[in-house]
Amino acid sequence: MINEIQTKMDIMYNQVVSSVQQKTFPHGVLIECQNSNEGEEFARFIANTLVCSGDNKPCGVCPDCVKAQGKGHPDIFETDGIKEHSKSKNFTVDAIRAIREDAFIAPNESNKKVYILKNGGNMNEQAQNAILKILEEPPAYVHFIIVAESKSTMLETVLSRVQVYSLLSDEGVVTEKEATAVKNMVGAILNVNELALMEQTAVFQKNNQFAKSVLVLLTEVFRDALVKKSGYIREFRFSDETDSLCKGLTAKSLLQLISVCDELIGSIDRNCNNNLLVVRMCYEFKRAIGR
Ligand SMILES: [Zn+2]
Repeated sequence: MINEIQTKMDIMYNQVVSSVQQKTFPHGVLIECQNSNEGEEFARFIANTLVCSGDNKPCGVCPDCVKAQGKGHPDIFETDGIKEHSKSKNFTVDAIRAIREDAFIAPNESNKKVYILKNGGNMNEQAQNAILKILEEPPAYVHFIIVAESKSTMLETVLSRVQVYSLLSDEGVVTEKEATAVKNMVGAILNVNELALMEQTAVFQKNNQFAKSVLVLLTEVFRDALVKKSGYIREFRFSDETDSLCKGLTAKSLLQLISVCDELIGSIDRNCNNNLLVVRMCYEFKRAIGR
């Protein structure tokens, strides 16, 4: 049961594949990573998926995949923007200008052109503004993948134009205990099983920080179910639970559940009494689903 929970990396790889398949992959991506090799490997996977000409992207066997995997695809460019023979480690603005000019030339073989900009944290403000210009109006076939140690090194204006994939450790990782609690809670809510709900919430009595992390995850699942109700398709972390909630509850109930979670998280932050928290949790959840 626990194995159904995908690792964070799996989720990100799946997200890339599904948005490339649906032709909704963004023009600008920032990969935030401590380990630059890991970040660059992910960037190459994205580039490969984008240029693949097979049906099941990345198919691994089409000429584009073969070239991408051999790091010899003519439409995938990798640069760290450092001037040759220069002592400076800066990603130069000249490098960005050259990329900008190149980006307006149509692709060679693929119908995409992908630029992997390594060392993104070493872009100064001038360089970032230069990249921003093209991110604002990119040619339809162009994608930029910036690899940087931390998104905090980028300008807000650039961040507003890119989708961030964070490979930083722990953030967003769900423990087995949390995953089980989320599944049990969703089951109890959907079946209006008061006893199961009480049993589950009783676990929170001893540890309100655990209760908080489960409530944060529940908020995510309720939101995802709402997203799914609106017909938007993407990968969801708790896909089965999201599906059942989407089918079993009204949008109104889901919204109500989200606000209940918000309130309960607020109470935990204010160091509320744990016994009261659990009683309120049962009561409010039941009320939200109209029982
Ligand atoms: Zn392929």
